[in-house]
Amino acid sequence: MSLKLTYIGLGSNLAYPIEQVRQALDELATLPLSRLVAASSLYASRPVGPQDQPDFINAVAALETRLSPLALLDQLQALEQQHRRRRQHHWGPRTLDLDLLLYANDHIDTPRLRVPHPHMTTRAFVLAPLAEIAPSIQLYQTPLTCWLERIEQQDPGQSLERLAKA
Ligand code: ATP
Ligand code: CA
Ligand code: CA
Repeated sequence: MSLKLTYIGLGSNLAYPIEQVRQALDELATLPLSRLVAASSLYASRPVGPQDQPDFINAVAALETRLSPLALLDQLQALEQQHRRRRQHHWGPRTLDLDLLLYANDHIDTPRLRVPHPHMTTRAFVLAPLAEIAPSIQLYQTPLTCWLERIEQQDPGQSLERLAKA
């Protein structure tokens, strides 16, 4: 497998979410056949939909990898499981969500894996951290800043606050 540049979205709103995301970034750095090349700041976002849950902490990581898309998804889901296992007594909402946002320029549309991540163009908590570490990326021939402006116009309720550098 040749070396591919991928972007991964991280999210948590349970059980010390800042620590969950920081630890997950460390764990991404240890994945086989892979190298963590960048990590965004942490961002706090209000949950979309029901407001009776804690704010989310989000970040985006850039990973160079020789893993195939599905092998990488396997690794991401194994990390999610590890974070869930630590809180087994609190079954329920996840402590860690890892979404494969982009895998080189690949377009993948299978039941288990869709890349680019299908909702990323409408989520400021994905686009803003991604733009921080990859400002020149385009999605569907459109710069990230244009997608972000579109969200501000069409969905101004999305709140996002940049926290410390991860
Ligand atoms: P959303 O996809 O809207 O962000 P979610 O992250 O809460 O929702 P999950 O329950 O974490 O959704 O994942 C559901 C399924 O999505 C997973 O089992 C996985 O196989 C599938 N999936 C499809 N495309 C992707 C992707 N690009 N990254 C991660 N999972 C994906
Ligand atoms: Ca998600
Ligand atoms: Ca997910």
